[in-house]
Amino acid sequence: MSFVVVGAGFVGVCVAYELARAGLPVEILDSSAGVPPATARSLAWFGAVSGGTWPRGSEDLLHLVLDDHRRLAAEVPGAAYRWTGSLDWPPPAVIAPGMRLVDRDTVAAMEPHLREVPEAALHIPTDAGLDPLTAVPAILRAAQRLGARYRPHTPYREQDVPAGATVIFAAGVSTPEVAGVDLPIGTSAAFGMRFAGPPGLVRHIVAAPGLVVREARPGRYLLITRGDPAACLDRFREIFRVDGTLRPLSCGTVLRAAPASGPLVGAVGPGRYVAVLHAGITFAPTVGRLLATELRTGEPAPELHRCRPARSAP
Ligand SMILES: Cc1cc2nc3c(=O)[nH]c(=O)nc-3n(C[C@H](O)[C@H](O)[C@H](O)COP(=O)(O)OP(=O)(O)OC[C@H]3O[C@@H](n4cnc5c(N)ncnc54)[C@H](O)[C@@H]3O)c2cc1C
Repeated sequence: MSFVVVGAGFVGVCVAYELARAGLPVEILDSSAGVPPATARSLAWFGAVSGGTWPRGSEDLLHLVLDDHRRLAAEVPGAAYRWTGSLDWPPPAVIAPGMRLVDRDTVAAMEPHLREVPEAALHIPTDAGLDPLTAVPAILRAAQRLGARYRPHTPYREQDVPAGATVIFAAGVSTPEVAGVDLPIGTSAAFGMRFAGPPGLVRHIVAAPGLVVREARPGRYLLITRGDPAACLDRFREIFRVDGTLRPLSCGTVLRAAPASGPLVGAVGPGRYVAVLHAGITFAPTVGRLLATELRTGEPAPELHRCRPARSAP
């Protein structure tokens, strides 16, 4: 029994790590090298508390994600996790369990550099994030220590797959094309920026009108905006008092996979699987663990029941 994982973004490295951790021989290949754009630009915010609705299979996985991330953080110290909680305003009308409403003074104390303090905000203490630029190489190294082989600059070619190997396609938006299957994977464009600034400006994951921002590691910030990308640092300065310079390190709009029906995880043919997720940072450690267990034991994971590609055929 051997495995080939196609794609070394966050999803692929999590799947490969879990297979290696389960004691299975795995090779991970990528047509490129380094952290791919959809993962590198990610805000990398995850949590298990939600006031809204998640598509189908995500609902069944949500309660597992924090435990899987905590386990990964303990096993892979270089993943640069930050357990900060989030602050979001304006708050929604309904406050779900696990959330709390905080008033102006509390927000000001929690985020002392705020210039624009809202009357109230939603606080989710269990929300967290990681730094994708350090997490992906760290998880990959951990998989390699467990015996996984990594082959960068190696596009997938069916004829190169060892006889009898099972292939898991985790190639993000390219998955249908690379795997040669018709999957209902839409795409959504998102603008992400990484910038340098004085450390400690932002203490939580802050979702304010116009932008969402978090400190990924001291002095390194991740930002996404639905507003004008060119004006996002100006907007940041409107919200936060900044003594010092802000220096963009990288930015751009990237396409992320957006399967309409939620995560797509499972077989698309004999010995061929896909793992395509919209909130890939949130769900990849859980999906990787469940998929690896399923492939090792041959027992379908009930938690993935509503994620099966066959259930969402176009
Ligand atoms: C701006 C932005 C903000 C986001 N914020 C969040 C967030 O806060 N929380 C969250 O959970 N998610 C977030 N996401 C989504 C999350 O980052 C992605 O779902 C996740 O990173 C996707 O990882 P992936 O491994 O599936 O795909 P990718 O990172 O795209 O990796 C796919 C890999 O496959 C490789 N590949 C492609 N074709 C081939 C081939 N033929 N042969 C071999 N290799 C191939 C590519 O080179 C690439 O390395 C965000 C995304 C963006 C863009």
